Amino acid sequence: PPRSTLFPYTTLFRSPACKLCRREGEKLFLKGERCFTAKCAFERRSFAPGQHGKSGGRSRSATGRASDYARQLRAKQKARRVYGMMERQFRRYYEVALKRRGLTGLNLLQILESRLDNVVFRLGFATSRAQARLLVTHGHFTVNGRRTDVPSMLLEGGDVIEVREGSSDGTYFKELKDVAEKRTFPAWLNRDLKNLTGTVQRLPERAEIDGNLEEQLIVEFYSR
Ligand code: SF4
Repeated sequence: PPRSTLFPYTTLFRSPACKLCRREGEKLFLKGERCFTAKCAFERRSFAPGQHGKSGGRSRSATGRASDYARQLRAKQKARRVYGMMERQFRRYYEVALKRRGLTGLNLLQILESRLDNVVFRLGFATSRAQARLLVTHGHFTVNGRRTDVPSMLLEGGDVIEVREGSSDGTYFKELKDVAEKRTFPAWLNRDLKNLTGTVQRLPERAEIDGNLEEQLIVEFYSR
């Protein structure tokens, strides 16, 4: 993909997106459609980047087993990378999650999912969160009728996202009406592709969020 779609990841982590997948030992789907092709770097080199990548690197002890700390750290880093967060902001979300009623881990995932850039991605308006973030920062969306360019804006039930009037005539959004047809969206959102709008019905339940995130380990990491 063009360099611009990788912008948040390469600046946030100073590392190409694919290296993050290789570090986590699994596909994080950070690059949109490329992730589903044979060009995926993880398909070709599924070991961690760097000199010690093949031997497991520093996260493993001499016996080859990851310590509790290493597992917690990796769970946290993975979630942070999936959602494209800096450590400081991610930690702030954890603190907010801690203060909310209910399970801290689930609260954290719900906060991450309710970010505007994630919702744009989940609605199928972008192929990756990185691309969604760019679309938002370029001011292509309104929330409840008001223009916003803040990808970290947290949405709640009843919020309506709309492609801005001036933007919906552009080639990207004109073509999107057809291509996004094939993209599914979760039940906690609603989508009207004809009018390029989406609605948040409610916050997602655990089963509706990628099962591969280990939120309990993230909570353990921060409560050490
Ligand atoms: Fe990860 Fe493969 Fe996508 Fe690169 S292309 S971001 S390695 S899933």
